[in-house]
Amino acid sequence: RDPNVKKPPWLRQKAPQGERFSQIKESISQFKLNTVCEEAQCPNIGECWNGGHDGIATATIMVLGDTCTRGCRFCAVKTSTNPPPPDPMEPPKYCQGHCHLGGAVDYIVITSVDRDDIPDGGSGHFAQTVKAMKNIKPEIMVECLTSDFRGDLKAVETLVHSGLDVFAHNIETVKRLQRLVRDPRAGYEQSLAVLNHAKQSKEGMITKSSIMLGLGESDDEYLQPTPLHLTVKEYVTPEKFDFWKEYGESIGFRYVASGPLVRSSYRAGELFVQTMVR
Ligand code: SF4
Ligand code: SF4
Repeated sequence: RDPNVKKPPWLRQKAPQGERFSQIKESISQFKLNTVCEEAQCPNIGECWNGGHDGIATATIMVLGDTCTRGCRFCAVKTSTNPPPPDPMEPPKYCQGHCHLGGAVDYIVITSVDRDDIPDGGSGHFAQTVKAMKNIKPEIMVECLTSDFRGDLKAVETLVHSGLDVFAHNIETVKRLQRLVRDPRAGYEQSLAVLNHAKQSKEGMITKSSIMLGLGESDDEYLQPTPLHLTVKEYVTPEKFDFWKEYGESIGFRYVASGPLVRSSYRAGELFVQTMVR
């Protein structure tokens, strides 16, 4: 981050603990599941795994490997043009792990790196994982946070009809900053088309998207993963995030989660349930 900008107190979190937290941690390690919560050292882990305020525990798992075929400037994930092929045993493994986690986790977010090297962008692999999970425990809530599948709308449909509860794809930043922030293969219109197609492909489909603040828009910014990534210029205050939440809901979004530590999957289960009762 910019050396003149000090980390503010609202970004500090207590060390995670709690019974559910320990139970989830144990299952994850036993089944060698790859969670974003741990890999990214997410500061929200205590809140999400313990079920936050409503008791609905959320965890985010990764499929399709740890190496991305794209290179966005805000992201610290490993990249390669030729990553290893997806593990065909991953859906059953996750299913088994999820079965064990099932007592503790109510809402699972499945996400992945971008896999432009696979013909369907990994959509079929996602769909198999969702189906495997739903077969074992139909009441589990599953969100897929996907790539744009290079705009392949058939791939979007495959996933929409897999039985998932929420289709999420992140637009990441405002239209003007897309080229600066995201890999050139991504784009504002393409992402909107993917979200729109997911919504149109199935009646009642819940879609979700996220945007980071602070990438050079007038008064936003974000946390820098390493000194090689885009520089943090300003820490946006909680009050400002509240302002954007109110604004987002005033223009028609069903629910807006907005805050300094909020990321795509933050307390996603609780927020999904709140969205449904609105
Ligand atoms: Fe990171 Fe996703 Fe961009 Fe890949 S596509 S570099 S995982 S943000
Ligand atoms: Fe995991 Fe997402 Fe919650 Fe972080 S915000 S702990 S990655 S579910």
